[in-house]
Amino acid sequence: MTEISAYTCKDCGKRTHVRHSHCPACKGTSFDEAPLSGKARLLTFTRVHALSLDYEDRHITLGIVEFEDGCRALGRLYVDDPRIGMELTAEIGIVRVHELEEVKGLCFK
Ligand SMILES: [Zn+2]
Repeated sequence: MTEISAYTCKDCGKRTHVRHSHCPACKGTSFDEAPLSGKARLLTFTRVHALSLDYEDRHITLGIVEFEDGCRALGRLYVDDPRIGMELTAEIGIVRVHELEEVKGLCFK
């Protein structure tokens, strides 16, 4: 499993999962990278049915979670019956298969 990283703004301390060129809170440009805990809580989710034709799945579910340290992230949700507030484990996994190649990204189970 690949490690999930968070980036902490050196100016204001805001943590984000995806590294930005500028901090979304203060526009700072310096960040510290650190591992992100794999435990998260589901904030919201949506099921997407209008996928491009090259998707092998009929639909996918996307979720926004909040990690224990307050960092929020979007990823593919692999839960049959998602419920707001449920505890999830985050990992880097297969988010789709495109032209027989596995595309990896943030997944929640
Ligand atoms: Zn900042």
